[in-house]
Amino acid sequence: MTSWKENAREVVPYTPGEQPKTKVIKLNTNENPYPPSPLVGKAISNIQLDSLRKYPDPGCSILISALAKYHGFNEENVFVGVGSDDVLAMSFLTFFNSKKPIFFPDITYSFYDVWADLFRIPYETKALDKDFKIVASDYSGECGGIVIPNPNAPTGVAEPVEFFENIVAAHPECVVIIDEAYVDFGSKSCVDLVRKYDNVLVVRTFSKSRSMAGNRIGYAIGSKELIKYLSDCKFSFNSYTMDTITLAVGVASIEDNAYFKEKVDAVIKTREWTKGELTKLGFTFPDSMSNFIFAKHESVKATYIFEELKKRGIYVRYFSKPERISDYLRISIGTDDEMQEFINELSNIIKGV
Ligand SMILES: *Cc1c(COP(=O)(O)O)cnc(C)c1O
Repeated sequence: MTSWKENAREVVPYTPGEQPKTKVIKLNTNENPYPPSPLVGKAISNIQLDSLRKYPDPGCSILISALAKYHGFNEENVFVGVGSDDVLAMSFLTFFNSKKPIFFPDITYSFYDVWADLFRIPYETKALDKDFKIVASDYSGECGGIVIPNPNAPTGVAEPVEFFENIVAAHPECVVIIDEAYVDFGSKSCVDLVRKYDNVLVVRTFSKSRSMAGNRIGYAIGSKELIKYLSDCKFSFNSYTMDTITLAVGVASIEDNAYFKEKVDAVIKTREWTKGELTKLGFTFPDSMSNFIFAKHESVKATYIFEELKKRGIYVRYFSKPERISDYLRISIGTDDEMQEFINELSNIIKGV
């Protein structure tokens, strides 16, 4: 007799950053250190208890409409999901069905290969160059799809829109996904490519720049046809992805643009200050356009710094693989006070070696 295990889908899951239960300085999962807009709080208190009795709107129309208006697109160009992880997973399922491999960088968001394995999508990773830049020519061959974050994670390196336009234009045979999880922190968005090309999907999230990782809101902007395909797959899997409360708070966040800008600017300012301090302490890093810095010390090992920081209640992220990044730490940007304390402790650790 064969075992049921032979017919089970076996995968190695994505490992999310730690969510410690005790109070720590948490610089390990790129969350925003500021709370969401006060309008989000108001939207939560305005929820009528009775409204939860009913299923939410499966078409998510209030949120889609707010996002369409915000980006200057039609509603049929917008798709929403349970965080961008959900949007990305659904996009992989919808668009990456070729026998040819999909392409993505070797150092990138570590969920891409997990989804590829889960959905049995063949893939090829393309090595970043020594400065952690994406090599455009690596993406020229015919393929089953392309997914690239811009800025890339965990490096923080951003490429200009023309860089992506060249890739999109060269690949009418597949869908190119640009994962803009960190684009609000100072780099240029590729959303306007959607007006010109029907094979590009730009994916965004409320988790980082909008301080709403706890709510799970992600979305995609693409051609009407692309969004229709995505939507049909979603409705074949789970009609009610977005709950009533989440739809309301998503709209509230979009409506408070002044607050959003203020907090994003604060994070950028703190990031630039942190870059200066890290340099003084002997760290090097690719220039980050995101809400984190991917840094390496000239002499002290990343694992040592990681453990010492943890003992002091400061959490950063460490990736042991691939080998090439095993001496780097990914440091999310916190408040000014948090980063000051981080730098103080870091300085003690390095001086104490
Ligand atoms: C954080 C992150 C996501 C996922 O964000 P959620 O919207 O919280 O699911 C996707 N892509 C990249 C590159 C990220 O860093």
